[in-house]
Amino acid sequence: MNERDLVFIGGGHTHALVLRMLAMKPIANVRLTLISDTRLTPYSGMLPGFISGHYTKAQTHIDLNKLAQAGNIRFIHGRVTGLDLQHKLIHLNNHPDIEYDKVSINVGSRPNLTVPGSNAVVQLRL
Ligand SMILES: Cc1cc2nc3c(=O)[nH]c(=O)nc-3n(C[C@H](O)[C@H](O)[C@H](O)COP(=O)(O)OP(=O)(O)OC[C@H]3O[C@@H](n4cnc5c(N)ncnc54)[C@H](O)[C@@H]3O)c2cc1C
Repeated sequence: MNERDLVFIGGGHTHALVLRMLAMKPIANVRLTLISDTRLTPYSGMLPGFISGHYTKAQTHIDLNKLAQAGNIRFIHGRVTGLDLQHKLIHLNNHPDIEYDKVSINVGSRPNLTVPGSNAVVQLRL
């Protein structure tokens, strides 16, 4: 039976949890690929503790490389720039197109940086 390609776009909370579960209980004949524009994903619940200095960066971030290695997941570090739904292709900024059979998109939300004070948090360079 041919292998099917299941591709996850975004390495945040949602996909980190789903991929961890799939790593523990793999699906036969399905190849997993994770595409993320960051290698480290912050755990939002611990963010206040990181900012106040209670936790280190390593303690508050999930290393997507390690997660992928543990789960036999192909990890592509790049930014998705578009989808070709007709040909089932994912376009990236730094990598040739990726084919998919099914794609899951969870790329989070973006904060409104016009709110007074929000830029100060961004400048912490989390
Ligand atoms: C301080 C804080 C506390 C929170 N507390 C809670 C809580 O207690 N309970 C709760 O339910 N929710 C909480 N949230 C919200 C929760 O973190 C989000 O709802 C959740 O992270 C969304 O998951 P996600 O996987 O969709 O996106 P995210 O976790 O935001 O991850 C998105 C990922 O996609 C990547 N990405 C974005 N665009 C692209 C692209 N074009 N190509 C490749 N990769 C891309 C990003 O780099 C990121 O890694 C909190 C958020 C914050 C900031």
